[in-house]
Amino acid sequence: MITLEDISFKPLIEESILKSRIQEIGKEITADYTGNQLHIISVLNGAFMFTADLVRHIQRPCNIQFIRLLSYQGTHSSGKITEIMGLNESIRGKHVLIVEDIIDTGLTIEYLYKTIVSHEPASLKVATLLSKPDMYRGNIKIDYLGFAIPNHFVVGYGLDLNGFGRNLPAIYQAIN
Ligand code: 5GP
Repeated sequence: MITLEDISFKPLIEESILKSRIQEIGKEITADYTGNQLHIISVLNGAFMFTADLVRHIQRPCNIQFIRLLSYQGTHSSGKITEIMGLNESIRGKHVLIVEDIIDTGLTIEYLYKTIVSHEPASLKVATLLSKPDMYRGNIKIDYLGFAIPNHFVVGYGLDLNGFGRNLPAIYQAIN
């Protein structure tokens, strides 16, 4: 059990399980991109740890760039996404892989997917460490998924609560 900002969390996915699943995904990506080089777009801040571990298991030439998005959830159910650090290299005609930490409602990935498609990549796939299938209402196919988890707030392994908890080596679930 751990506590962050007065919220208690219990372990959900331990470090060794994360590591072996990420290794498997790396092997899968390696096989799928035979003869090609990849252009990875990692979504900060949450995906930094997943990206760092995943790319070490991809045995293909990788161009890695980072983007940063902020999603504002207003009083209405529609969210607004602002790009605060955008693409810095052309991805036209490239094989692009988006690397996300978690897909919750899918708003972020929908925005990102559409934005990247407009740059006309040769192919576009999505890898995410976690997803909450009960919450996801988008249509984007998740090509590489680490773990489907229940609809609880999680921290650790890059995911935060007000900036804290990202350094935890495992995933923890809020107890409510
Ligand atoms: P979506 O746009 O799919 O609703 O949300 C995606 C973003 O919301 C993620 O990239 C992440 O930053 C944040 N998020 C969603 N669920 C969680 C969660 O359980 N824990 C944390 N720490 N962030 C989450």
